[in-house]
Amino acid sequence: MAAALAPLIDALVRHDGEPPATLTDPYAIVLHENAGYLIPDERRDDVYARLNVLAPNPAALLGADHGALLALARDGGMRPEERVERWREIAEITLEEAGVFGAHAESLRRAYGVLRRHGKTICRNARPECPRCPVAKTCPSSTVRP
Ligand code: SF4
Repeated sequence: MAAALAPLIDALVRHDGEPPATLTDPYAIVLHENAGYLIPDERRDDVYARLNVLAPNPAALLGADHGALLALARDGGMRPEERVERWREIAEITLEEAGVFGAHAESLRRAYGVLRRHGKTICRNARPECPRCPVAKTCPSSTVRP
């Protein structure tokens, strides 16, 4: 997967530069992204920080009190019950398959940062700006046609 993404990521980096520094641990990145749904980044950061105090690692998250997790998940937006389930799935996958992703952690971290920025600046959900998108020529969803 990382290799297949490489040309896309390189094109976006050529256009916008390297993404800002983010979390580096794959588990932390995925958990942070799933800390909330459709909420501002500041609120996501806050929920993630409190989740990290409550459950500082995957094993702790799996053993954490459901009520405490649910109370925290409510601050992360809609569908808090689903969010708690997702947090537990992330912890389980991390414990079971961490070695599989270690090898590609850096390229996946970079891809995450690049795609996240692209989704916030150009390829926004409601109104993507295809005419100024650096990957419009190869994007199957582009509204710009040659
Ligand atoms: S061409 Fe349009 S839909 Fe495709 S990635 Fe760019 S902004 Fe998004």
